[in-house]
Amino acid sequence: MLVDAHCHLGDGAFDADRDAALARARAAGVGHVIVIGESVAGSARAVDLAREAPGLSATAGVHPHEATTWSREAEARVRALCREPAVVAVGETGLDYHYDHSPRDAQRRAFDAQLALAAELGKPVVVHAREADADVAAMLRAWGGGGNVPAVILHSFSGSQVVFEAGMDVGAYFSFSGMITFKNWNPMVRPSACPPDRLLVETDAPFLAPVPHRGRRNEPAYVREVAAALAQAVGASLDDVGQQTTENARRVFGARVAAARVEHTVP
Ligand SMILES: [Zn+2]
Repeated sequence: MLVDAHCHLGDGAFDADRDAALARARAAGVGHVIVIGESVAGSARAVDLAREAPGLSATAGVHPHEATTWSREAEARVRALCREPAVVAVGETGLDYHYDHSPRDAQRRAFDAQLALAAELGKPVVVHAREADADVAAMLRAWGGGGNVPAVILHSFSGSQVVFEAGMDVGAYFSFSGMITFKNWNPMVRPSACPPDRLLVETDAPFLAPVPHRGRRNEPAYVREVAAALAQAVGASLDDVGQQTTENARRVFGARVAAARVEHTVP
């Protein structure tokens, strides 16, 4: 069984065939999908999707691209959503200095506030880090080390040495995406350097489709291609990587994910 640890299932790219995409995921052995909230409205949509669906969990947060929308009111709404039983983590939050869709100080403010929220609520936090290594590392160390934030998930981990070291210091989970299937992916830190009990797999769908689907819309079924590439990278079998990453997802996301089953693969 596989868990897709990061999927934007609420995205409009799935409006035409969301149920069919989930059926394909189940057929591919995907027992659970974490539906990511990237804005207040997107988080509410993720919660709506997950509320009645035992195979789905949600996160609630505001993506760095949307950081200018962070406000006291946004924070109150994210906090309320985080108290829903279907919500297993805060985020996606973080810093993105590649696109700079929001000013950097606004990104840092929203990230800091969501790290504080994760600490307050005792929930893991899903972190997006792109070309902001030093600031991400400093903020992770500030919040993650002393047990304030119970767990950090480095989503679509890119193999940055600086982020890896901070992640190791705070016991973070390293979530690999379709990037690891790309021929030109040449990370400083290889997946085999990450502790096995900290590995996760994700699609980041509808973005970042793995080879051989690269360039098309991604979907949760394709987490299988990611897991296969990860298995090759760490020298393990697909079965072992599936088992390990599922166990890790259950540990970090908790009971709702721990209850996940795929009927035909249950021993
Ligand atoms: Zn994402």
